[in-house]
Amino acid sequence: MDFELSDEQRLLVQTARRFVQEQIVPLETKLDPDADSLDPEDHARLAAQVKAMGLYGLGIPEEYGGPAIDLVTEVLLAMELSQHRAGLYAPCYGVFGGTGLAQLYEATEDQKQRYLHPTLRGEKTAFFALTEPSGGSDPARAIRTTAVRDGDDWVINGGKIFISGADEADYGLVFARTDPTQGRGGITCFIVDTDAPGFYVRRVVHTLRSAHYATELQFENLRVPHKNVLGEVNKGFSIASDRVSRARIPYAAACLGPAIKAQQMCIDYVKVRKTFGDLLATRQAIQWMIVDNEIDVRTARFLVLEAAFKAQSGAPFATEAAMAKLVASEAAGRVVDRAIQIHGGSGVSKDLPLERWYRELRIRRIGEGASEIQRLVIARNVIGGSFH
Ligand SMILES: Cc1cc2nc3c(=O)[nH]c(=O)nc-3n(C[C@H](O)[C@H](O)[C@H](O)COP(=O)(O)OP(=O)(O)OC[C@H]3O[C@@H](n4cnc5c(N)ncnc54)[C@H](O)[C@@H]3O)c2cc1C
Repeated sequence: MDFELSDEQRLLVQTARRFVQEQIVPLETKLDPDADSLDPEDHARLAAQVKAMGLYGLGIPEEYGGPAIDLVTEVLLAMELSQHRAGLYAPCYGVFGGTGLAQLYEATEDQKQRYLHPTLRGEKTAFFALTEPSGGSDPARAIRTTAVRDGDDWVINGGKIFISGADEADYGLVFARTDPTQGRGGITCFIVDTDAPGFYVRRVVHTLRSAHYATELQFENLRVPHKNVLGEVNKGFSIASDRVSRARIPYAAACLGPAIKAQQMCIDYVKVRKTFGDLLATRQAIQWMIVDNEIDVRTARFLVLEAAFKAQSGAPFATEAAMAKLVASEAAGRVVDRAIQIHGGSGVSKDLPLERWYRELRIRRIGEGASEIQRLVIARNVIGGSFH
């Protein structure tokens, strides 16, 4: 494994860093600290710049118009592009394009025309609905939503919870049980239009990330045409899980952006902040927090890059992806927590981005497979066996 960056990677990283510093960070002063969307003019201007840089559609395969970059480069860029107040989510994420739904690359040609391509063009938005009130870590057992065949349609009844962005989406992927006698072998994925009769957003679920919300959905005799089945009937679970491991790697990298930035803020701050007549940089208690931050950032960065290298080389990488996601999300949370401590009152104020990262990173230990589920994946692969 060679961690030396190529000239092209170095150039892309520098370009992304400059873009964040010169274009995104200055917008922070005029943004509400909890803002979830950019001013439309700023959004359009930044998106045009990202396109000119050749970075629009990060994570989208090249054949669908994404940039011609490999996973290692994508991960290096994710660490740069998340180094600002809104680094982990909107408002700035959208200017890089993407569907958020890798599963649609497996769609039929007709489905791609109706859903994937309009989404890639920015004309439609989508949601992904797997989690139900009965549980999200073990959807194979927890899914209670049912779909029953009726002529050319399927009739869906049930509900979902914690679904991001469903209230503003045009359509989404809904996982429902089509064979009650089976576990993971009895689940089908449907593409559901949000304007279909029987589709209801019951409520918005506010989380500790105040600007970000999830929704609770209800389906009452919601009719979906058979041509909207994504993949095969009863094979929906593999659609949900197949791309999950890969997605964990850039997800982990994005957690590190705020951690890297927070550590830099600490280093800069302790060199100018004086207490009891001397700089914070001279205090061992402060030095050790900075040392622990450095170890957390470097350990996590190493694991994220290792996972990306493995995945890119075609080797099995589920264990490495789980380790990367687990360590990066937890380490980044610790780093930002220490950074808040070092910055004192300013650390918890909305004058600095630290408090927003603190809240967002807490969610990252639950989303995309909670820490315990990553440990479960690692244990299965290290010890062997299929325990839960
Ligand atoms: C802001 C936000 C946005 C979200 N967006 C979406 C979305 O768009 N689409 C979607 O489908 N879901 C979404 N989710 C749901 C998320 O994926 C689930 O919350 C997550 O999978 C955990 O499921 P759960 O909340 O039901 O917890 P549970 O599955 O009930 O687990 C509870 C706790 O027990 C732990 N646990 C579970 N099993 C084991 C075990 N075997 N051993 C040890 N510990 C275990 C878990 O790690 C967790 O800590 C979102 C959640 C949030 C907070």
